[in-house]
Amino acid sequence: MSASLLEVENLRVTYRAGRRKVEAVRGVSLEVARGRCLGVVGESGSGKSSLARAILALEDGVSGRVAFDGREVLKLDRAGLAAFRRRAQMVFQDPLGSLNPRLKAGAALAEVLRVHGLAASGAEAARQAAVWLETVGLDAAYAGRFPHELSGGQRQRVNLARALCVGAEFLVADEPVSALDVSVQAQILNLLKSLQERRGIAWMLIGHDLAVMRHVADDVVVMKAGEIVERGPAAEVLARPTHPYTRELLAAAPNVEKAL
Ligand code: ADP
Ligand code: MG
Repeated sequence: MSASLLEVENLRVTYRAGRRKVEAVRGVSLEVARGRCLGVVGESGSGKSSLARAILALEDGVSGRVAFDGREVLKLDRAGLAAFRRRAQMVFQDPLGSLNPRLKAGAALAEVLRVHGLAASGAEAARQAAVWLETVGLDAAYAGRFPHELSGGQRQRVNLARALCVGAEFLVADEPVSALDVSVQAQILNLLKSLQERRGIAWMLIGHDLAVMRHVADDVVVMKAGEIVERGPAAEVLARPTHPYTRELLAAAPNVEKAL
């Protein structure tokens, strides 16, 4: 067993549009230990989402090394990739866009459970779906709601249940609350934190404010123009930022901090 669940070494993501080349991620190395939360902060365009997608093998034009539980992610075959994608999942910013509008919450979970062979019958899938909804703080009655009948926060809970039900042990949450009301943001961040504490989920929280990171992340990396410019325990980086860019980010004080 390797020391860290996720190890990223000298990761590079390059986009090509004709002759133009964009180096979105330029030699990033980081680790996420089992059961820990790594915060990734940086302004828009600093390469956070590119890094996230590259780690989950959702991006072409990637070089470097990504190891998950000791396995080389960028060299996985189809079957290996399918297994990896059950264990490591993305949580997106827009919870509505990632849900099928024609499927009720319970049916959405049941479908995933059946597809992955985790429930022997429809009734068993429905039973498990109800348990997962409860795990993310939704009463079983929500199984009967369509995405448009749910609030943004409830939709994000359904997304989390869908990731967890197939056995996710690592989540990459790319600005998971930036589309939600401030009051709901704290609830979803607290839910993610409690999944870490109760279930040992490791996760990356991608966002742009450092104050939120102090409450939620254990460690933090600060990205600027595709590179990590500062890293360390979240509390320390926030209390004593050494890079001017980190100080700048800190100056943009968020509201959600007060609710956490
Ligand atoms: P962030 O998530 O921090 O806002 P991104 O990873 O989305 O940053 O983007 C990093 C850089 O890569 C930006 O300059 C962006 O314009 C560019 N970029 C992102 N995705 C693509 C793409 N599919 N094709 C070309 N350039 C891209
Ligand atoms: Mg992004």
